[in-house]
Amino acid sequence: MNTPQPALENNQENYAANADGYFGTYGGSYLPDFLINPIAEVAAAYAEARQDPKFIEEYQALLKQYVGRPSLLYPAERLTAHCGGARIYLKREDLNHTGAHKINHCLGEALLAKHMGKTTLIAETGAGQHGVALATAAALVGLKCEIHMGRIDVEKQHPNVMRMKLLGATVVPVDFGGRSLKEAVDSAFARYAENYQEMFFAIGSVVGPNPYPTMVRDFQSIIGIEARAQHLETEGKLPDALVACVGGGSNAMGLFNAFLGDDVQIYGVEPAGKGLHTGEHAATMTLGTDGVLHGMFTKVLQSEDGEPAPVHSIASGLDYPGVGPQHAHLQQMQRVNYVSVDDAQTLDAFQTLCRLEGIIPALESSHAVAYGMQLASQLSPEQTIIINLSGRGDKDVDYVGGVLGI
Ligand SMILES: *Cc1c(COP(=O)(O)O)cnc(C)c1O
Repeated sequence: MNTPQPALENNQENYAANADGYFGTYGGSYLPDFLINPIAEVAAAYAEARQDPKFIEEYQALLKQYVGRPSLLYPAERLTAHCGGARIYLKREDLNHTGAHKINHCLGEALLAKHMGKTTLIAETGAGQHGVALATAAALVGLKCEIHMGRIDVEKQHPNVMRMKLLGATVVPVDFGGRSLKEAVDSAFARYAENYQEMFFAIGSVVGPNPYPTMVRDFQSIIGIEARAQHLETEGKLPDALVACVGGGSNAMGLFNAFLGDDVQIYGVEPAGKGLHTGEHAATMTLGTDGVLHGMFTKVLQSEDGEPAPVHSIASGLDYPGVGPQHAHLQQMQRVNYVSVDDAQTLDAFQTLCRLEGIIPALESSHAVAYGMQLASQLSPEQTIIINLSGRGDKDVDYVGGVLGI
């Protein structure tokens, strides 16, 4: 968001949304009547804020002073030697305050809510990562925070529930239906619709109705803006390829956006879970079909009657049956390649990064590492790739230790 100008410099506008939030045929705003006005108000406020130098300055100051940006572009030499091909750089979003990229857009959304005069941030959360990042941003900016969470997830994700509460958020357990993420979304939206005068709905990825896919991408675009400048400075040229994992697609869009007009190969990595043919995966771009989900027209993993399909990934941040509409568009334009790696390859990459670089990656990010390692080995030593290390893996160590039996 800080620089719509570079967009013009390198042709990103070819890939931007139109005034109604459509990236080509994908995106838009598909809402029940009771949400049309609240979301239109957010769109209008964001259109104003992204042109407001004071808002942008305030946001950039938080990224610098609070998140700790710029994050490092780290040359992973032992990983490079292990793969025996292109030089591998890691964009270290794991070093951000709270340990992942999510804080970038949560701070942006919190600031916008404050500018709109709202008192409360509201959202749903599944594994709790979005809830924790949002509760953090709310505390910093001085807003109340209400997080809806399925009862089953509340029980499974105890540490994140504690974090949210310690940060001052109210956690609302949802007890109807499957008592999981889907019900948490319904519960949070119902509450928001009744209280939107005071509340701002903070979506956790580049998904949902217009303006969220554009807004969240803009708030994350700092990743690619930094990485492009850092790589130019160190290598004197652009990288040959970028790799990022894709759940909803926010860390990926954040890295990709600055490079869309460049001659750079781009790869989005989805979770193949237990295998693309097992039905237990979340490879939306690879196997999904066009449909409407959570207020947007996009690729969806769905049953024949249009219900979102059950999904699986070893990384809970990636098990989403939809994807941001800009990704669907970038696939259609053949600008980004969408590939997948399975749970076993992911675990392997997780351990490799631990042992060769002393970095414990999030299981989500380990998908990007797994594909990046394969890709690097096929390229030559004069070439370079950037892998987005979207988050750190402290949250995953008990689970991985259990799977490995250590
Ligand atoms: C939430 C999360 C993701 C997936 O979300 P995107 O919107 O696809 O980026 C990836 N990595 C980490 C570390 C996460 O916490």
